[in-house]
Amino acid sequence: HAKESGRNTYRFFDERMNVNTLERLQLENGLRQAIGRQELRLAYQAQVDLASGRIIGLEALLRWASEPLGNVPPSRFIPLAEECGLIIPIGDWVLREACRQARQWQDAGLDPVPVGVNLSALQFRRSDIVAGVAAALDESGLDGRWLELELTESLLMESGPDVILTLGRLKALGVRLSIDDFGTGYSSLAYLKRFPVDRLKIDQSFVRDLAQNPDDAVIIRTIIQLGHNLRLEVIAEGTETLEQMDFLRREGCTAAQGYLFSRPVPADAIPALLQRGLPLNR
Ligand code: C2E
Ligand code: MG
Ligand code: MG
Ligand code: MG
Repeated sequence: HAKESGRNTYRFFDERMNVNTLERLQLENGLRQAIGRQELRLAYQAQVDLASGRIIGLEALLRWASEPLGNVPPSRFIPLAEECGLIIPIGDWVLREACRQARQWQDAGLDPVPVGVNLSALQFRRSDIVAGVAAALDESGLDGRWLELELTESLLMESGPDVILTLGRLKALGVRLSIDDFGTGYSSLAYLKRFPVDRLKIDQSFVRDLAQNPDDAVIIRTIIQLGHNLRLEVIAEGTETLEQMDFLRREGCTAAQGYLFSRPVPADAIPALLQRGLPLNR
């Protein structure tokens, strides 16, 4: 019996592995062709000033509508793209596309707002990230101050001694730098002071459980104070309810992003959004 069930167990895992490998291969092959097939799009999510309700920025979020696989969420294809190195050409495309679109909105006469682009660690560590960003700005004609690069704590802590040099070169291009998912990684406060970043983005997990978990309220309060003390802007991600927004306001957080204000929307919805403002504010 033991032998038989052992064999069944073995076969079970074997088949599961095959399914995962197959799925991975399909995803990877699909991803390899995604740029050429024009299956990638950027969605944009508004960032809101909590005092005035006005849109003060947009975050570009990658969307993949695969011909055979349908819509694949970033949580499934970004880690894979990082593992197989495809994040480099994909990340380049995102940078160029976001800059191009931002410039196009400005050319159409819309009030300019910074557009945030997520950078993956692999992309950042590549020696020509500075050249890549410079090229995206140059080709689009976008002024650097309208581009914000979102980095994570782990990217900053694990990128070695040259990280401050690279950040300095990026700052020299005039771009804004922010730390995404702040509070979830291990960041040394001593380092934080030396990184030339402009903004902390409070991770959405803290905002989500705010009402149920007093620890999260304390963490948010601490990040807001840390930001104030280091003269960094602070924005809260994942704001879904009025209660969360009220808490953030009371604690002195001046900006937020989340479904309460707007979901990420296709690029062609942005001109109307920038012109008319958010429904909440009308
Ligand atoms: P992120 O940069 O922290 O982006 C925020 C994520 O939270 C987005 O998910 C957004 O749609 C979602 N979100 C926004 N507001 C709310 C809310 O109120 N409630 C909830 N539950 N979620 C909200 P998305 O678009 O699925 O992206 C997931 C992650 O994938 C991003 O997290 C980012 O780390 C990564 N990603 C997305 N686009 C890119 C990209 O172009 N390059 C790289 N390297 N990573 C990207
Ligand atoms: Mg982000
Ligand atoms: Mg985040
Ligand atoms: Mg993230």
